[in-house]
Amino acid sequence: MAAADTPLLILNAPLVANRLGYPDLSGLDLLELFAFVHPARFCVPTAKGLAEALSLDEPDSDDAVPAMLQRAGAALIAMCQSPDWPEREGAWSALQSLAKLRWPWAGVLAAHINKPERAEKWLFSRLPEWEETPERPQPAQITLAPDAIETTLDRLTGLDAERREGQRAYAKAAGGVFAPRDREKRPHVLLAQAGTGVGKTLGYLAPAALWAEQSGGTVWVSTYTKNLQRQLRQESSRAWADKRADGSRPVVVRKGRENYLCLLNLEDALQGGFNGRPAILAQLVARWAAYSRDGDMIGGDLPGWLGTLFRKRGIAALTDQRGECVYAGCPHYKKCFIERSARASAQADLVIANHALVMVNAARGRDHAQRPTRIVFDEGHHVFDAADSTFAAALTGQETIELRRWIIGPERNSRGRRRGLAARLADVASYDDDGGEAVEAAVKAAHALPSDGWIGRLAEGQPDGPLETLLAQVRTATYARDESGAQDQGYGIETEAAQLPGELVEAAAEAGAALAAIRQPLMKLGARLEGVLEDAPDWLDGQGRARIEGARHSLSWRIDLLGAWEAVLARLGGPADPDFVDWLAVDRNDAREFDIGIHRHWLDPMKPFAHVVLEPSHGVMLTSATLTDKDEGGADWESAITKSGAPHIELNPQTAFAESPFDYANRAEVLIVTDIKRGDIPALAGAYARLIEATDGGLLGLFTAIRRMRAVHGRIADRLARAGLPLYAQHVDPIDTGTLTDIFRDDPRASLLGTDALRDGVDVPGRSLRCVVMESVPWPRPTILHRARRAAAADEPGGASLHDDRIIRARLAQGFGRLIRTREDAGHFVVLSSAFPSRLLSAFPDGTPVHRLTLDEALARVAEGIGQSANASGEFEDNTAQVQQ
Ligand code: SF4
Repeated sequence: MAAADTPLLILNAPLVANRLGYPDLSGLDLLELFAFVHPARFCVPTAKGLAEALSLDEPDSDDAVPAMLQRAGAALIAMCQSPDWPEREGAWSALQSLAKLRWPWAGVLAAHINKPERAEKWLFSRLPEWEETPERPQPAQITLAPDAIETTLDRLTGLDAERREGQRAYAKAAGGVFAPRDREKRPHVLLAQAGTGVGKTLGYLAPAALWAEQSGGTVWVSTYTKNLQRQLRQESSRAWADKRADGSRPVVVRKGRENYLCLLNLEDALQGGFNGRPAILAQLVARWAAYSRDGDMIGGDLPGWLGTLFRKRGIAALTDQRGECVYAGCPHYKKCFIERSARASAQADLVIANHALVMVNAARGRDHAQRPTRIVFDEGHHVFDAADSTFAAALTGQETIELRRWIIGPERNSRGRRRGLAARLADVASYDDDGGEAVEAAVKAAHALPSDGWIGRLAEGQPDGPLETLLAQVRTATYARDESGAQDQGYGIETEAAQLPGELVEAAAEAGAALAAIRQPLMKLGARLEGVLEDAPDWLDGQGRARIEGARHSLSWRIDLLGAWEAVLARLGGPADPDFVDWLAVDRNDAREFDIGIHRHWLDPMKPFAHVVLEPSHGVMLTSATLTDKDEGGADWESAITKSGAPHIELNPQTAFAESPFDYANRAEVLIVTDIKRGDIPALAGAYARLIEATDGGLLGLFTAIRRMRAVHGRIADRLARAGLPLYAQHVDPIDTGTLTDIFRDDPRASLLGTDALRDGVDVPGRSLRCVVMESVPWPRPTILHRARRAAAADEPGGASLHDDRIIRARLAQGFGRLIRTREDAGHFVVLSSAFPSRLLSAFPDGTPVHRLTLDEALARVAEGIGQSANASGEFEDNTAQVQQ
């Protein structure tokens, strides 16, 4: 009521609203003000974080927060009047637009931001243009000398740093992947496991830097998490300067294009494409874009919390999600962040990317020179998962409607700048009759694809066109056959693509024909574009050429996509292809359907990985703290080698191993709590609350199901809040995962609950993380895909159960790995499981004490902390099982 009456000063309105259960809370949100005053600056979105960002005294209790928020507001407003405000340019103009949009802060700020004497540079004129650069010559063929690698490593670690033998051996082994290749399609492949604390990042950056310097080539380092990308950016500054003498950057972070701001989309949003709150977001994004380092909206310098303040999918709508880029046809092409990053990476010594992008680039990179040839896959244990999704095909409603939009463009009431193929290639069509006809034919055929409202029509039994008819059949069959138990719980459901009803097989044949009818004119168009490029007309200048090349590139991957869908359909009703696993699925959230379709994954995705990524490379390294499985007999390289894909091209990779230098025996304990019954949510919630109270916060809770995590959070959040112990949770708090981790890291009394993404995306050294709790043994979900891979493993030594054990041990090892990040860290790893098989204990580092005990005993141990508990261990002697490894 108070908030509805007067606009209140709030910090993170959606979060406060969520906590109050009052969804429409609004007011003067200090985070919005911060984003306006200091765009592209980091700030943890809490009172403490805001105080830090503004160099104010941190509040020492909750009671002190309101006064601190007032001081923060005053400091930000005072900054607007300061002559030293670094982000002044553009503020007055943006404020005029924000006032028209009735941004609550606009009235407050109006009196404090003076109109500039000279007209301000508008965003699009302020951004620098990129320049075309010549192609880099081939790298020189060199072999790195081991002592030169050691000298470089010394330089990077600092001469007085402690000498770490494990790191030196690791760096020298990594140097081997940069040696010249002896035969075509025979890269050097190294699998290197390095325990936490070995210093693996500098261990591979040393030979990478040396090789790049001596050969003039580019090394790609690929990660799975954004967190590691951030860390790599920092660490690489030891080896490379920020800029070269010519102003170019030796180190570039490269992401998929859907991460970057599309200036054309932003312009459209600023000029009326967005209304209401999203329009305010667009103005704040425009402020940021003028100061951003690289225009990266997801995990770059745009605060992760900015998008969540505005609820709707505003951020995604400002990126180039749908591949509608018009390349040189775009007025902002020469300033485009995506184009700039692609050009910069071609000139870089080090490109920091992610697994999916490296694989996509290897598969269909826009030009040959940009394909990675020396690659270090850090977080190498995730390469399998990344390959699994990259090389998969999904013929679903959402995917097909995207293709329809890409070909046809806006229909009926849709607004915005989106343009279809015909508009994007209007000049080619008018110049080349065959090309024009092909565009027309493709547009006509694309009407067979699902259109807006498809999911509603399916639910009502009124599908429109061959693809919707097929999806309706898929939906019916999935509901008829799913036996996973997810139907009642509101989760997604699935069934294997076998023994399918005749109607579905018939519908698949018709849908396949409809897809082929789209693919054929697109292929013809592709050939025409090639023709235009080869025999260029007078009007085709450099920019026109770039645009046609761009169109040809995006065309070719749509043609591949259609081909992959047709292949999926062609196999329905026929014999199974042993290389693939196909299934039908209805994706649901709280019983609400959001996608329906047919999925195809490789049984072993490392097969395409080996051919697409390994074969063309010269040197590839997969490294991680948990690359190998470890059973009672020790590290198992067999499974790591199989999972690297190397056997598919008959390669025998090199292996290297560096033990963690951490003293796990004295700094960590594994506690297996045996008296919490599986499925007993009240008991589970009680255990979490008591553990958080015992540790006084600093607890990371890992769940395998979102539903259970929500149930636990709902039961304990209030109790903990009253005790002054902040609790945050993924999928509950309206905050992105990266920001949640920042908040957790920043507050030693905070605890965080989450699912898979936190299991190895969280790097929180120090006291902020002193206890990791897993709700149970992390069994793999029994999906159709898992069942198929398990069945395939049944014929191998160890059989299907070893397949599962490996997955679980890897998850346990990753979860445990969150706990001890530095030599000084200490803490407990707790698994709430009455039946924890002993064979899984080898997942933990050798020498780590393991105790099986009751919750009460665990609480006592956790409350004592590590160090003291070693003295008191006698107390538990009867109940604990120290596992010697
Ligand atoms: S070139 Fe493409 S991605 Fe870049 S701003 Fe223009 S339309 Fe957007």
